Amino acid sequence: MAPVPQTMKAIQISQTGGPEVLQHKDIPVPTLSRNQILVKNDFIGVNFIDTYFRTGLYPAQFPLTLGREAAGTVVASQSDVPVGTRVAYMGNATYAQYSAVDAANAVKVPEKLTTEQAAAVYLQGLTAWTFIREAANVQPGQWTLVHAAAGGVGLLLVQMLRSVGAKVIGTASTQEKCELAKKNGAEWTINSGDDVVAKVKEITGGHGVDAIFDGIGKATFDADLEMIAMKGHLVSFGNASGAVAPLSILRLGAKNVKLMRPVVNGYVAERKDLEKYSNELFELVTSGKINVAIHDVYPLSEAARAHVDIESRKTTGKLLISCE
Ligand code: NDP
Repeated sequence: MAPVPQTMKAIQISQTGGPEVLQHKDIPVPTLSRNQILVKNDFIGVNFIDTYFRTGLYPAQFPLTLGREAAGTVVASQSDVPVGTRVAYMGNATYAQYSAVDAANAVKVPEKLTTEQAAAVYLQGLTAWTFIREAANVQPGQWTLVHAAAGGVGLLLVQMLRSVGAKVIGTASTQEKCELAKKNGAEWTINSGDDVVAKVKEITGGHGVDAIFDGIGKATFDADLEMIAMKGHLVSFGNASGAVAPLSILRLGAKNVKLMRPVVNGYVAERKDLEKYSNELFELVTSGKINVAIHDVYPLSEAARAHVDIESRKTTGKLLISCE
């Protein structure tokens, strides 16, 4: 294994703004604290949240190294995780060649999975799977609806919902995206430019959807309350179109709606939960129950292009950054 250098390439921002504020810089390789590992990142996951930190929707201190997940190889260890272990993890400052990671936050990548596959499925897969299992507790036969069903989280949600026996409706902004969602398990699809509420009523015979998974936010929230079934779970988990406006809690009473605004990290905060859900997620991939679609792999130096692409709504599946 090559010696660890003193400096590395990383993507930092020193101010909020458009993709042009991303800087490809030389910064020191992080030093380790007790119970940490140094991971040489092979593949870094691009997530919509990275754009929230860049635009300032989510506050941060600058300079900020972007990134919330990666997969790679342990090259130094202050923990019981041996050097040479292939790991996937959610953490901070991952748009970099090396990241210092709390060992408790990293999981071993099974031999049957490539590092690229692990990076491509990890954060978004844990999100989709824990939201199905814990946030909405979806049961076989229930009506479910996934917004942005051809996106990173969306494409995983439709496959996983199908695998647990739910009836899956997907929405997406183009015919091509609807077709992709259909191929991946959404038995019904609706173009988001159409009257989604009316179509849902028609498809579900007036019942509405028992669980809605909404990462779009502002643009779709009101329609969600209209098309949710009595006692339905509304899982609002993102802001791709902007943050949902503050609402009067009284609006939930019309249908006894269970409204949630979950964050994946809360479901895997305890090590036993991280291991359980990571193992289940990897098993879904290795058993072929879900397919991991990679839209594109960008060199680290071109991370800004990945931001342009994910915000343009032209991508499907996962965007990755490669450190090679
Ligand atoms: P996606 O790959 O799904 O990309 C976002 C998609 O949102 C687009 O492809 C587009 O699909 C749709 N969209 C609708 N309106 C807009 C808009 N105005 N601008 C851009 N896109 C829009 O991203 P991710 O899979 O990374 O994330 C999906 C959502 O899940 C995000 O909101 C993200 O923040 C959230 N998330 C939340 C987590 C949590 O723990 N709470 C964890 C992980 C993700 P279309 O064109 O079909 O409408």
